[in-house]
Amino acid sequence: MRWAQLVLVENDPGTFDPDFWLSYFRKIHADAACLSAGGIVAYYPTEVLLHHRSDWLGDSDPFGYLVQGCRDMGMSVIARTDPHAAWDNMAKAHPDYMAVTREGEMRPHWANPEMWVTCALGPYNFDFMTGVHREIVEKYGIDGIFSNRWAGHDICYCSHCQSNFEEFSGLALPQDSERSNPVYRKYTDWRIKRLRELWLLWDATIRQVKSTSRFILMGFPTVWSPVPIRISFSLTIRQGVDLFHPGQMVKEPKN
Ligand SMILES: [Zn+2]
Repeated sequence: MRWAQLVLVENDPGTFDPDFWLSYFRKIHADAACLSAGGIVAYYPTEVLLHHRSDWLGDSDPFGYLVQGCRDMGMSVIARTDPHAAWDNMAKAHPDYMAVTREGEMRPHWANPEMWVTCALGPYNFDFMTGVHREIVEKYGIDGIFSNRWAGHDICYCSHCQSNFEEFSGLALPQDSERSNPVYRKYTDWRIKRLRELWLLWDATIRQVKSTSRFILMGFPTVWSPVPIRISFSLTIRQGVDLFHPGQMVKEPKN
């Protein structure tokens, strides 16, 4: 199977030529494509509140145009989302969606001063992005959703992470990420549990809309464990994407 991935940037709508790319997919005999859809920037006319439409979108729907073009060629389509950052209006409306540093400040984006890093383990992903993923499958009936940078960056000290970790462990969040720190190891256990819940939530949400559609993540974070853990998944497009669930993680034998 030959895959193509087309990642858009915010000012592509109206300036890039989707027919060039569809023609390219045809030329290389691509069987499937992963196409930018939403998250930081929506490349379709989203109706999810505060889901930022590209400022260049106007009345266009470049994602939908590409999906239809791929469908016309018999290709499978995976929508790409990126939930790791959000714009200032989102931060003002929902400050608790944003990642917080150990000093108690919202975490600014490392590359784009207009954006903030989101909390991966709280309601931004569990509520807001779940709505985005549902909308994309409802509108376009795509075969799956792939999320980039979905698992968070560094320890987040937001109010949700503080209270959820305390509920899990009875402890305050660790002050460092030293693996020798037992609180950090506990935190890692909690984070993995939380991310597994998120993975299953997004996958179940997508399947509710289209039973053969699946959620595909950008890797699962390395688990701190004396025994390395391997995660496997396989893709069977056409029959749908068959995803090995986190519950099927396999512990590799000790050497
Ligand atoms: Zn958080």
